[in-house]
Amino acid sequence: MKVAVFSTKPYDRTSFQAANAQAGHELVFFQPRLTAQTGPLAAGFPAVCAFVNDTLDAHVLLALMKQGTKLIALRCAGFNQVDLEVAEQIGLAVTRVPAYSPHAVAEHTLALLLALDRKLHKAYNRVREGNFSLDGLLGRELFGRTAGVIGTGKIGAIVAKIFIGFGCKVLAYDVAENPDLQTAGVSYLPLDEIFRQADFITLHCPLMPQTFHLINEDSLATMKRGVMIVNTSRGALLDAKAAVRALKSGKLGALGLDVYEEEGDLFFEDLSNRVIQDDVFSRMLTFPNVIITGHQAFFTQRALDSIAQQTLANITAFEKGEPPPGRLTAEMVRR
Ligand code: NAD
Repeated sequence: MKVAVFSTKPYDRTSFQAANAQAGHELVFFQPRLTAQTGPLAAGFPAVCAFVNDTLDAHVLLALMKQGTKLIALRCAGFNQVDLEVAEQIGLAVTRVPAYSPHAVAEHTLALLLALDRKLHKAYNRVREGNFSLDGLLGRELFGRTAGVIGTGKIGAIVAKIFIGFGCKVLAYDVAENPDLQTAGVSYLPLDEIFRQADFITLHCPLMPQTFHLINEDSLATMKRGVMIVNTSRGALLDAKAAVRALKSGKLGALGLDVYEEEGDLFFEDLSNRVIQDDVFSRMLTFPNVIITGHQAFFTQRALDSIAQQTLANITAFEKGEPPPGRLTAEMVRR
């Protein structure tokens, strides 16, 4: 099948070309993000392959459909960027890669949390400059502290189990409780109880209307003073302006982000010679107790290989008229 692959970097091309040796599709790689302006590049392509910050709103979907596209094959797990209701109405099939390596994201979550707790970002710079002073590097142990895990699907469940391994008390919230985690010692509580009791909170639920700005001025107010929040899920789960205010007041003790609500204009590009225009993002970078990575939690070789293989498997199944394993329906958002 002829596939227009948007937002591609050299590493995407390598993994997709390797996986396509078996799948045999006709892949055309486009560097730009998919937007209303770049959509015409996909004219005549029955399949469009898109990533996390591509635009797939009603306008773009309709334009793609009119150009002959029949399948949107997301090469990511999250699907908040797609208007699934519209896709369904106009007969566009949508697929995603539901799980490529949940361990990649779970482990990156711990990397952010541990780096913040042990101030590794500061220690790294100090030691390189010959400064071996420990002043200001006083850390905290995970052992014995209370973790709050919001969303215990594939990634959140792994994070919860890692916390248990560290000797944490693990509290969780999800609309669907996972009995395996309960057996492992995780306690499910209402969201407001997690906010009240947790020493650190990590977000692993999808972005949807019900979870938009889940962490906001009001929820932050109910948390322990000095709480740490880590978000490796989707940026808009957290109100960044509220987070800045809470960091300034000391209510929020540390913040680890791999995602940001307005990341579409920043992440995945080298902007080191440009002035960043986003003042909220720039302000967050000034705090000593904030670490931000640019949506790299998924970025391991195993995950890239798996993403390419599963995306192409979805396309192959669609082409053969079989149900693609990663098929998305509007019903999934309504739930
Ligand atoms: P998943 O579908 O396996 O798990 C999501 C969990 O959230 C489910 O258990 C679901 O019941 C729960 N949930 C749904 N609505 C909820 C609500 N209102 N409140 C609390 N929980 C709710 O997904 P996953 O594979 O674990 O991925 C989690 C998120 O991680 C994805 O939505 C995606 O946005 C993000 N992600 C980020 C990266 C990255 O590189 N940073 C990579 C992959 C996935």
